Amino acid sequence: MASASVIEMKGLSKTYGSGEGATRALDNLTLNVNRGEIFGYLGPNGAGKTTTIRMLLDLIRPTAGAATIFGMDVREKSVDIHRRIGFMPGELSLWEGRTGNQIIHYVASVRGDTKGIVKQAAEIAARLQLDTSKRVRDLSSGNKRKLGLALAMMHAPELLILDEPTGGLDPLVQQTFHEMMDEYRDKGKTVFLSSHVLSEVQAICDRVGILRDGDLKAVESVERLTQVEFHTVEVRFRDAIPAGLPQQLDALPDISDLSANGARLSMRLVGDFDPLLRAIASGYVESLHIEEPTLEDIFLAFYSGGEED
Ligand code: ATP
Repeated sequence: MASASVIEMKGLSKTYGSGEGATRALDNLTLNVNRGEIFGYLGPNGAGKTTTIRMLLDLIRPTAGAATIFGMDVREKSVDIHRRIGFMPGELSLWEGRTGNQIIHYVASVRGDTKGIVKQAAEIAARLQLDTSKRVRDLSSGNKRKLGLALAMMHAPELLILDEPTGGLDPLVQQTFHEMMDEYRDKGKTVFLSSHVLSEVQAICDRVGILRDGDLKAVESVERLTQVEFHTVEVRFRDAIPAGLPQQLDALPDISDLSANGARLSMRLVGDFDPLLRAIASGYVESLHIEEPTLEDIFLAFYSGGEED
C-alpha cells in the first residue's frame, strides 16, 4: 500500500450556530487517509461523522482548519475533486418521480463516458439485487440506498466517501457490499466510510478512527485493535467455588471485574493465564470458557477511558 495521503484534514473544526445555542460538532480534527486503504470513521449518533464528510465535500464550511483531497484544497477545488470521487450521503435525496435507470443515465451523462458508466451501474445494481426500472418513490429505503451506492460507485472513482453505507441493507446485501469494498481495495482505491456498526468496520476496514462528541479519540489499525490484550474468562466448577478462591484471584494484579454466580466465576484477565490456572486448580474445573474481546469491548474501553478525562 502506497503511503501517500488521499485525504488530509488539519485542525478541522465546526461549530453550528453561535452564542448560547452553539453546537461544537467537530473539534480540531487532524487525520490522514492513505491511498489504498478502507478507513472506518466510527462513532455514535451525533459524534460529528456527517459534519466531517460534509466539510470534505464542501457542502458546509469549517469554522477552523482545512482539508485537502488528492492534494487539492476542498474549498477551492471542489469541482475538480468531485469529478474524481464517488459519494453517498447518509440521507439520500433522489428524484422521487424518476426511475433508477433514468437517474443513472442522467448522472452518467454528467460524468461523461455514459455508456461505460451505465454498464457498470447495471452490474452493480445486479450484484446488489436492485431493480432499476422502478421509480424512486416506489423503492424501499434499503433499495434507495442500493441506488445511492450504484450512483457513487458506477464511475469507479479513485476515492469513495460513504456516509453510513449499509444502513437498512439486509445481511446478504451487506455481505455483497463488503466484497465490493474488498475488490475496491484490491484495485488500490481508497474508501472513507462512516459507520456506527462495529462488526462492519471490523470486517472491512484497514484502519478505524473513533469519534466521540466531535473529538477523535483514537486512530488504530483494525488488526491492532483486535489484537487481544485482555480476555473474558468464565470458570465453572463441578460442585462449588473453592473457599477463599475469589479473594485469592482478586489479589492477582492481572484479574479484574471478578464476579461469582453459583459455581461459576467470571473475570477479565490481562496477560498470562498461568497464575489463574494454578489458582483454580484447587477445585474441580468442569469447564473453562475464554472469550476474546470484540471491537465493541475495545470501543467501550475507549469510552470509559474517555469518561475519566
Ligand atoms: P449520526 O450517526 O446520527 O448521523 P453524526 O456522527 O453524523 O451522527 P453529525 O450529524 O455530524 O453527527 O452531528 C454532530 C453534532 O452537530 C450533533 O450534535 C448535531 O446535533 C449537530 N448538528 C449537525 N448538523 C447541524 C446543523 N445543521 N445545525 C445545528 N447543529 C447540527
